Amino acid sequence: MTFVFASNNSHKLEEIQRLLSEHTILSLSAIGCHDEIEESGETLEANSRIKARYVRQWIRGHYPDLLYDGIFSDDTGLEIDALGGQPGVYTARWAGEPKNDAANRHKALSLLEGAETRSARFKTVITYITPEGKEEQVYGLVEGSIAPAEAGDKGFGYDSIFVPEGYDRTFAELSSETKNSISHRARALMALRTQILKQ
Ligand code: IMP
Repeated sequence: MTFVFASNNSHKLEEIQRLLSEHTILSLSAIGCHDEIEESGETLEANSRIKARYVRQWIRGHYPDLLYDGIFSDDTGLEIDALGGQPGVYTARWAGEPKNDAANRHKALSLLEGAETRSARFKTVITYITPEGKEEQVYGLVEGSIAPAEAGDKGFGYDSIFVPEGYDRTFAELSSETKNSISHRARALMALRTQILKQ
């Protein structure tokens, strides 16, 4: 099957191509869409939906002959318990504009200095939308904690400060195979596969 992934994040794309390796995954740049999609929603669900709907409309306007089976988008948030669930929907731009992963990680480590609990989770909401406009959402979650300091150089975003439950190393220290077997995104994609694609 051929899917359009509503993102130009090369790290996410690489993870998704590995996890759905028997399918063709087209990124936004592959179909010629270079728009910056504004994530104006107040929840991960809303932002995920905005991206999927935007891309469907974009294809209808710019590439109506494109043959594809569905579009899916991914919106991810990090919830830190000691901070009342922050940054949540503001995960990407938590330390301000422009989006800066290093500043975001630094903010998390600073705010957690002396905290009694460092528990946290990543949550991914995938919206799947067919060419006809039928929409469904699925979720993926991984529990874990915020490391005392950055560690590891793999992955992206908050990977070097997030230790998944059951491990004593950050996502950035674990192999991509290990991250892809337990991550929020992998679990959401598994739900997409079983609940929506029925595979
Ligand atoms: P978005 O889903 O692209 O809006 O991403 C929200 C924020 O979460 C960005 O700062 C990403 O870098 C970060 N993020 C998303 N997925 C991951 C992941 O798998 N590991 C670490 N950080 C992530």
